[in-house]
Amino acid sequence: MAEIKTVGVIGAGQMGNGIAHVAALAGYEVVLTDVSQTALEKGLQAIDHNMARQVARSVITPDQMTAALKRIRTSTETKAHAEADLVIEAATEKRAVKEQIFRSLCEVLPAHTYLATNTSSITITGLASVTDRPEKFIGLHFMNPVPLMKLVEVIRGLATSQETYETAITFAGRIDKTTTNAGDYPAFIVNRVLVPMINEAVYTLYEGVGNVESIDTAMRLGANHPMGPLQLADFIGLDTILSIMQVLYDGLGDSKYRPCPLLVKYVEAGWLGKKTGKGFYDYSGEHPVATR
Ligand code: NAD
Repeated sequence: MAEIKTVGVIGAGQMGNGIAHVAALAGYEVVLTDVSQTALEKGLQAIDHNMARQVARSVITPDQMTAALKRIRTSTETKAHAEADLVIEAATEKRAVKEQIFRSLCEVLPAHTYLATNTSSITITGLASVTDRPEKFIGLHFMNPVPLMKLVEVIRGLATSQETYETAITFAGRIDKTTTNAGDYPAFIVNRVLVPMINEAVYTLYEGVGNVESIDTAMRLGANHPMGPLQLADFIGLDTILSIMQVLYDGLGDSKYRPCPLLVKYVEAGWLGKKTGKGFYDYSGEHPVATR
């Protein structure tokens, strides 16, 4: 088993910068790449900000933060990964984009490098098949926000070797994550269970069984969820919820996964949740106000 020293991360968005953050803190050399220089700058700012919060809460020391930041290099070029032992792809959730990334990556990587994807819904076996090393390819599905959330779902493709799996488990342990194994089927475990629950909450709203506040209060106090399902939907992004429902519906062909028409309507309106300032709640004032 090759030792992992340098970790490449592709995509500096909310997930990629979180993965770079935890890998650098664990002592890995990190190369973070993105097609956009602005995304890299924003990603580094987010890492700086999030580590400073960990320092303020005494989770890490200022020296650990300084050392970790020094271990992160950024680039807009794929060839920056030429020395990586493991590359984790966390770019935009589009199959064509990810396939193109893996194809060009394989041209610059040494033979020993492992490949991982953080996809939420695209087939691991399918992505592995475009590479020159499907046996060294695995799904590592981190949760958002990465520095705070303990879980990584580990998904083996049809060709993933035992050695690659064990390397991934060792890596996950070193970055202080707990792993769970999931099969390579649409949305894996967490999203397969969570997202239809959110979709059902939207149906209860659509059918007038409850309003936004009664549904969220019911699930917070009645099921002991830390956040109501509609509030959580706003946090994840309604476009993301819709696309995961579509993946479940298309991939499993069962009508129980049909996206709620009201969810579709919110996405059509551009009311995507917190990131656009409005979803099931309106975030423009001091406190979120329910939109229905
Ligand atoms: P994001 O939009 O915040 O970031 C994606 C980044 O990828 C952007 O900075 C973009 O410039 C970059 N990018 C696009 N094409 C690229 C290319 N060809 N090469 C390099 N970089 C490229 O997205 P995100 O929320 O960080 O999601 C990234 C991945 O993680 C997706 O596969 C998503 O499904 C998955 N994921 C997301 C969450 C979540 O809650 N957001 C949770 C788990 C997994």
